[in-house]
Amino acid sequence: MDTKVLWIGFTDGSGMLEKPALEALTAACTIADGLGGELVAAVVGGSAETALGQIGGASPASVTTVTGETWSAPRYKTDAAACEQVAKTTEAGIVVSAAGSRFSRIAAGLAQRLGGAVDTQVTAAKVEGGTLKVDRWFYRQRMIGTIQRSTRPWVLSVAPGSFAPCAEGAVEATPLEVATESRTTPLGVEAGTSGAQTIRPDADVLLVAGAGWTKKQADGEVHVDVAADLILDFAESARASLGSSKSMVDLASEGQAVLPFLTHLHQIGQTGASPRHPKGLATCCHGEEPHAVGWRFINERRAINTNAACGWAQGKADVLYVADAFEVMRKVNERLK
Ligand SMILES: Cc1cc2nc3c(=O)[nH]c(=O)nc-3n(C[C@H](O)[C@H](O)[C@H](O)COP(=O)(O)OP(=O)(O)OC[C@H]3O[C@@H](n4cnc5c(N)ncnc54)[C@H](O)[C@@H]3O)c2cc1C
Repeated sequence: MDTKVLWIGFTDGSGMLEKPALEALTAACTIADGLGGELVAAVVGGSAETALGQIGGASPASVTTVTGETWSAPRYKTDAAACEQVAKTTEAGIVVSAAGSRFSRIAAGLAQRLGGAVDTQVTAAKVEGGTLKVDRWFYRQRMIGTIQRSTRPWVLSVAPGSFAPCAEGAVEATPLEVATESRTTPLGVEAGTSGAQTIRPDADVLLVAGAGWTKKQADGEVHVDVAADLILDFAESARASLGSSKSMVDLASEGQAVLPFLTHLHQIGQTGASPRHPKGLATCCHGEEPHAVGWRFINERRAINTNAACGWAQGKADVLYVADAFEVMRKVNERLK
């Protein structure tokens, strides 16, 4: 049973697979190769035609699709039913998918239905002596654990940014009929923060906004509106993900001037998130250890701070620009346009 590795990808509203799905496909490939097993693939969503042109690089032995209006929106019952039936039909020993909201919602339930085990947010996979071992972090990314299990099927969700996306190419697929119904009807999508979505796990760049943006500047005035425009402008033009320091998001509860689009969900650090992006730029943020520890998975770190003795200068950033972030970001945004 171990030899069948099933990858499941969910298509988005336009029928495409997003980058984390293609990264999870690389993980599934790595596992199948290591075990000397067979990679099988399944695409679930409203439609799958475009997605079938994206996964050929993995050369799956077979591809199954579960498509139609029922699967155009995420929903526990219908998604779990589709994945359960695919896993049973393919007799998968290992089931792999991206740790996005859609698979994360059903991963534990799927393992329960299959009588298997589940591990989430896997960041690495290797096969040693014929045994599959996967890594995941514990205690807010402070400890890494390597897990092996004899229970099968083993359901794994793969953390975004942990593997390179699989090369594209076209494949043929066989549709699978899944009989299921649900009393839940999705009415629409509401963004978690006001306006645009600003947390983008698959972005190439992370822009961190620190509390300095809301402090009095050289002219003795606070310029929160200007700060908001500069930050959102950059986030949009560079398709960057937004993060913030704890001080920045805590200001709201202290009744001080705030950037309304930054919430505790954006907080990076010891008591916040540790996102994975190739590059990061910290602006108006001091770079204290509890914050900088959340940057451990950012490959190239840069910071802009008026203070040459700030935390970033203490070996926490690759490059520190000692400059006014208002001026620098204005120029950067002009160039991006
Ligand atoms: C147990 C514990 C857990 C914590 N967890 C976290 C966590 O998860 N995440 C986190 O972020 N913090 C965390 N903290 C808080 C952390 O120690 C810092 O207090 C916080 O990160 C400071 O935020 P800041 O750098 O935005 O603000 P500040 O310390 O106020 O720094 C503002 C910076 O902006 C600069 N600045 C001002 N104007 C400009 C300008 N025009 N251009 C350029 N630079 C400018 C200033 O020079 C200054 O360095 C934790 C603390 C504790 C004790």
